Amino acid sequence: MTKNVLITGGAGFIGRYLSDLYLSKGFNVFILDNLSTGNIQNINYLKTKYIKNKNRLRFVRSNVENYKFLRREIKKSSLVIHLAAAVGVKTILNKPIQSMKSNLRATEKVLESCKFFKKPIFFASTSEVYGKSNKSSFVEDDDVTYGCSKKIRWSYATSKLLDEFMVLSYFNEYKLPVVVGRLFNTVGKHQSSNYGMVIPRFFSQALNNKDITVHGTGKQSRTFTDVEEVCECIYLLMNNKKSYGEVVNIGGKKDIMILNLANKIVKLTKSKSKIKIIPYNQAYSSIYEDMNFRNPSTKKLNKLIKKTPKLNIDQILKKIISS
Ligand code: UDP
Repeated sequence: MTKNVLITGGAGFIGRYLSDLYLSKGFNVFILDNLSTGNIQNINYLKTKYIKNKNRLRFVRSNVENYKFLRREIKKSSLVIHLAAAVGVKTILNKPIQSMKSNLRATEKVLESCKFFKKPIFFASTSEVYGKSNKSSFVEDDDVTYGCSKKIRWSYATSKLLDEFMVLSYFNEYKLPVVVGRLFNTVGKHQSSNYGMVIPRFFSQALNNKDITVHGTGKQSRTFTDVEEVCECIYLLMNNKKSYGEVVNIGGKKDIMILNLANKIVKLTKSKSKIKIIPYNQAYSSIYEDMNFRNPSTKKLNKLIKKTPKLNIDQILKKIISS
């Protein structure tokens, strides 16, 4: 029998690739997305790609909080992937109340419905939950340290961490099959530059020969992860019952300093752009605080699925720019 997967936030950047993957594996895919940051082009692309199987893809524009509707759809699903959430530092800083509400309310509603129908759920968390740790490699059981509540950036980490607490409590109290994946800077082709993410922004600036806006000192680093590899990990984790009740890092191999990233993108695009260093308080505001490092330990991921994301930053950037 064909299996059904419900993907909340499925019209977003990760959703596009994940829906594609599940369709390619023969699933019926149902996407629930309010298109607040998702993009109808992603749905149109999937409809065209799977034209012969177009009945296997359904999309409804709606908030996840539409409870009656959500329950009806979860009842029909074999599993749920909960991606819907506030996207990008820019969104968090500009619309903190809406971001917190959507992170917390949507997750609660999805969990309640999954519990009612006993459906496995993947919760997309973020490396942001590690906060300001200066450890060279983040392990899932590490302690976390955040800035004060005036620095609104931490509201995102806090709301995602609270979501994680909720998800894990549904596992502990109700034996609901849950997996929490902490995603490390997922990137790839078709990622929008509208929400502040560094790689699409640098590409857009470089291709238009505009200044490359490096924030802070540029010495802060991130570990970027190819979106297709991330989706493969999510798929494999959900196929393995040993993942249930676990928090798992999903991230690439090696971090890179943002200044070095800027230089790589200028070189790769043969751009005339100059690097411009912009202090954080000009780039965002005084309520912003950055973290210096973000590098995952992928030991646990490897133990569970015998695989980890392999592409390095050069391979990822080349993939983004390829036609
Ligand atoms: N960043 C930058 N210039 C930009 C956008 C972002 O230097 O135009 C920096 C940002 O300050 C952070 C890093 O790049 O240190 C990654 O930012 P992004 O918003 O992509 O992800 P996150 O901070 O959530 O890891």
